[in-house]
Amino acid sequence: MRVIAIDGPAGAGKSTVGRALAERLGLRYLDTGAMYRAVACAALRRGVDPGNADAVADMLADVDIEVGDGRVTIDGADATAEIRGRAVTQAVTPVAANPQVRAVLRARQRAWAASHGGGVIEGRDIGSVVFPDAELKLFLTASPRVRAERRVAEVGGDVEEVAAAIAHRDASDAGRHDGPMVEASGAVVVDTTGLGIDQVLAVIESLLERT
Ligand code: C5P
Repeated sequence: MRVIAIDGPAGAGKSTVGRALAERLGLRYLDTGAMYRAVACAALRRGVDPGNADAVADMLADVDIEVGDGRVTIDGADATAEIRGRAVTQAVTPVAANPQVRAVLRARQRAWAASHGGGVIEGRDIGSVVFPDAELKLFLTASPRVRAERRVAEVGGDVEEVAAAIAHRDASDAGRHDGPMVEASGAVVVDTTGLGIDQVLAVIESLLERT
């Protein structure tokens, strides 16, 4: 099983880099943030309070979430665009801090990797908790300004507002008790500020040659 773990804050380039890297290496790609977002989205659709940990855990046992190949479905209904919206982006923070949700999603991430011979797996706790023995653990980062600008280029909005929202979400992700966003032991930090995708991929490929 070949696992490349990519963690880091919002807007650091994890998804763009992760997808391209997976293609180059002939591996599958898993966006674990989309899994947390899908749980938050399912809670909103069903009228479950995202902050009610037990209610969200009960709901998760009863909902069919599929994340793969750039498409997300909840109980068979497409949710690909909705999980990127503002409502879900706000609701995902308490959902991701819920230890019951994290336990279920981590088990699914490990099962996914086992069934695909590994993969390029992106998130916040992939190198630290889910796959501590990954072949390569990357922690991608970039300056707050650049991260906000990248988000605005993707989904629109005002740079200052987006920067504030990202800072808030990063602080929650780094401060939570279970699976905080952290540079995993043995992780290589890659600062993507000022780097294009090809330059980041070149850095990663040279790291892979050395592992
Ligand atoms: O990567 P993305 O920004 O889409 O992730 C959305 C949210 O999902 C993050 O802010 C974080 O709270 C949560 N998440 C997590 N653990 C992961 C991946 C994402 O807690 N492995």
